[in-house]
Amino acid sequence: MPKSAISGGEQMEVPLARPDITDLEVEAVVAVLRTPNLSLGPKLEEFERRLAAYVGVKHGVAVNSGTSALHLVVKALGIGEGDEVITTPFSFVASANCLLFERARPVFVDIDPRTLNLDPERIEGKITPKTKAILAVDVFGQPADWTRLEEIADEHGLLLIEDSAEALGAEYKGKRAGSFGQAGVFGFYPNKQITTGEGGMILTDDEGLAQLCRSLRNQGRGEGSGWHQHERLGYNYRLSELNCALGLAQLERLDEILSKRERVAQMYNDRLKDVEGLELPYISPDVKLSWFVYVVRLSEDYTREDRDWILQELKARGIGCSNYFPPIHLQPFYREARPGLGYREDDFPITERVAARTIALPFHNNLSEREVDYVVQNLKELLQRPR
Ligand SMILES: *Cc1c(COP(=O)(O)O)cnc(C)c1O
Repeated sequence: MPKSAISGGEQMEVPLARPDITDLEVEAVVAVLRTPNLSLGPKLEEFERRLAAYVGVKHGVAVNSGTSALHLVVKALGIGEGDEVITTPFSFVASANCLLFERARPVFVDIDPRTLNLDPERIEGKITPKTKAILAVDVFGQPADWTRLEEIADEHGLLLIEDSAEALGAEYKGKRAGSFGQAGVFGFYPNKQITTGEGGMILTDDEGLAQLCRSLRNQGRGEGSGWHQHERLGYNYRLSELNCALGLAQLERLDEILSKRERVAQMYNDRLKDVEGLELPYISPDVKLSWFVYVVRLSEDYTREDRDWILQELKARGIGCSNYFPPIHLQPFYREARPGLGYREDDFPITERVAARTIALPFHNNLSEREVDYVVQNLKELLQRPR
C-alpha cells in the first residue's frame, strides 16, 4: 500500500460499506440452527408480516435476493415479450435486467439532475401502444416522484413498479417507500440498510399478486397442493429461516440503524458543505430520505478522467469508494445491437453527465468521526491538486 500523501498522516483502511451485526443477530441465527426448521418455517412468515406492517402494505413475500423479487413482480404482472417498460438508466443493473429476463424491452428515460430519479416529465414522450408499465427506482434512498408517476400511470393505464431496494425506511409525502405502485421491492445484500446476507422481499396490497409470487418462488407449487404438484413454471427463490431470523433481528434494530446512518451523513454534510467543486446529496422537500450511500458529485469542470483519478488515489490511501452508477444503457451487453437495445453514448446526457462525476464515499452505521475526517481530509487534498 502506498503511503498517504498527507504529511504526518498515518494510513487508515476505511471500507466502502460494512454490515452492522450484533449479538442479537448472531443469537437469532444460532437459535434457528437448533430447530429442525431451516426453510419455509415460522421466521419466514414473521419476517414477511413484520416488514409488510412496517411499510404499511398487506403482504410481504420474501425471496433470496432483490433481483429475484424484481423478476417475480415483472413475471407475476404478466409483463413479457413485446411489452415496453419505462425505467431509469441511472440505477443498479438489476432494475432493468429484470425486464430482459422476461423478454420485455426496457425503455430508458433520462433523470432529474437533482434527485437523480426518473424524470416524470420525460415519460409521456416515450409512451407507445406497447408500453405496459413504469418501473421507477428510489435511487440512493430518495423516493421517486410518486404523485406524478401515479398520475401518468393512471392516465395511460400502465402498471407501476417500485424498486425500493435502496430505500427501506424512506418516506414520500409521509408514505413509506415500498408501498407505491402494484408492488415494491427490497433487497438485503450486506450493503443495504438491513441485511439477510442475501435476500429480498416483494411488498404489495394485491393478494392475488402475492399468492402468485409465493408460488413462483417455490417451484410453481400451488397453495395447499402437494410437494410434487407444480401448477406453473416456477423457480427456487426461497429465503431460508437463517436469513429470515437475521432479517428480523436487523428489523428490530431498524430505528437505531437509520439514525446511525443519519448521523454519519450529517458528519459528511458538515465537513463538506463549503468545499469548492463538490455537490452534496440533494433531498427533495417531499421526502424523508433513508441514507443508503453517501454520494458526492464533482462540479462540471471536472472530467470523468479527473473523477477516476480521484477514485484511484482515494483507494491507494485505503479509502473504499466507487463510481455509483455507471449508466445501465452503456453496459457492454446493453450496447449490443439486439432487438430494441443497442444504446449509445449521448442517448441520456443527464445520466451520463452525472454518472461521470459521482464519488460514493465510505458509508456504514459505525463509521467513526476519525474515519470521516480521514476521508474528508484526503478528498479535499485531492480536489486541490492541479489537474
Ligand atoms: C441492490 C439493488 C437491487 C438488487 O438487490 P440484490 O439483492 O443485490 O439482488 C435492485 N435494485 C437496486 C436499485 C438495488 O440497489
